[in-house]
Amino acid sequence: MSLVPCRACEHLVDTSALACPQCGATDPGCKISRQQRDRRRLVAQIVVGVALLAGVGHVAWNTVVPMVKQMTARPAGN
Ligand SMILES: [Zn+2]
Repeated sequence: MSLVPCRACEHLVDTSALACPQCGATDPGCKISRQQRDRRRLVAQIVVGVALLAGVGHVAWNTVVPMVKQMTARPAGN
């Protein structure tokens, strides 16, 4: 029995574990090259970044659109 970092979240898991107890990744002890791990980390960062952007964009959208609607709903002229 030996512990290795999960290939997905780097939580220490047993090499014989079928799934990571922390993130649920299958074959967490499966060894992959550092390059692959770096690429996975980069992909994860991109996913998180996009998710954050989407979240911020969603909030901005929900804030700006009602304002624009309010402005455009105002009758024209004096
Ligand atoms: Zn994990």
